[in-house]
Amino acid sequence: MFEVKIYDKYVEQFKKGYPLIFKEAIMGVQLFDASDIQEGILLKLLDERGKYLATGYYGRQNKGYGWVLSKNDKEVFDNAFFQRKIYLAIEKRMGLFNNPKTNAFRVFNGEGDGIGGLTIDFLNGYYLINYYSKGIYSFNAHILSALKNSVEFDGIYEKLRFDHDQAEVNNGLVLGNPAPESLIIKENDVKFRAFFDEGAMTGIFLDQREVRRTIKFKYTRGKDVLNLFSYTGAFSVFAALGGAKSTTSVDLANRSYEHTKCNFELNNLALDHNHIIVEDVFHYFKFAAKKNQKFDVVILDPPSFAKSKDYTFSAERDYPELLADAIQLTHKAGVIVASNNSSNISLEKFKQIIGKGFNLAKARFEILEIHQLPKDFRTNLHYDESNYLKVVFVRVLK
Ligand code: SAH
Repeated sequence: MFEVKIYDKYVEQFKKGYPLIFKEAIMGVQLFDASDIQEGILLKLLDERGKYLATGYYGRQNKGYGWVLSKNDKEVFDNAFFQRKIYLAIEKRMGLFNNPKTNAFRVFNGEGDGIGGLTIDFLNGYYLINYYSKGIYSFNAHILSALKNSVEFDGIYEKLRFDHDQAEVNNGLVLGNPAPESLIIKENDVKFRAFFDEGAMTGIFLDQREVRRTIKFKYTRGKDVLNLFSYTGAFSVFAALGGAKSTTSVDLANRSYEHTKCNFELNNLALDHNHIIVEDVFHYFKFAAKKNQKFDVVILDPPSFAKSKDYTFSAERDYPELLADAIQLTHKAGVIVASNNSSNISLEKFKQIIGKGFNLAKARFEILEIHQLPKDFRTNLHYDESNYLKVVFVRVLK
């Protein structure tokens, strides 16, 4: 246990339930870098006079120095603690566990479920634990045993989402049987292939479930749909099942072609009206403009940051221009689904970014609906950044 004093001006924030132990709040923060304090050590947070505030753990992420785990001075962080947290999280997802149409969702969502730096997803019988710092990974025996005792499973995988020495740690399957080569998950009765062996991504971004459903039921019948940064084509498959006249999926990564094709086939969709293009989106804009191609619906879900051979994209800086390019490819009265998942961009700020994009394109717009995280991605009310997803459906009025 290591005692850390919090500057007075941040004390109220922690008393209310703020979960992130951030640099500016810590008195004598340089000590962390000057000494060899090990990640995973418990931090006792005190006010300037030494009065107890909360207990957390030390774990370095880009977000901060660690996360609060409890406001009880006497709390013990053993198997039982993690078991309680995981059990409560599972209880809140019972609706999804019992939903016959969907077998892929988030079971434990970091600080939203009381433990920052840790997420657990369920993918048709398999669990995937993500550790975002060395600090939280130091509790991995407790976490694994808590999960093992709480659920039935075919297999449990772990991914370490921080820099680490490969030889020192488990990474991959840690309990049970390996997933089949073709692990098929279901979301609202639509099938997708999931995988555990391609870096951080698993084939489907579970936080867009409601958006995919909305696209299918409300926006795609008879429409030409363009899906930019399409990855495995999840939005395109939902659009095609919603009766789209055509879909066009554009992604730079070679692997996206096979994945997208496979997902169309899994849902018995032919490829003749569902086009898969492996190309840089920024090149594609030029190509489509030359051919004067236009679409009724354009889905825009870029990564927060991406570097390709010819372009560097940062959502914060470049989203307006990206959107302006997308507007050029959209028919009058068409719909753009603009998505952003940067935790440092609030919904208000994202709406301003959208305004800028339309200004650049000299077009007007109307917001039709806004989606944020689904319920299984529980957020922490005291920590706005945990509510990172913003998806705004806009109609283009030219
Ligand atoms: N919209 C997707 C998720 C996007 S993930 C979904 O709903 O599943 C980000 C994707 O952007 C990755 O597949 C990556 O290959 C792709 N990407 C990054 N930079 C790109 C670029 N310049 N042009 C095209 N695709 C790009």
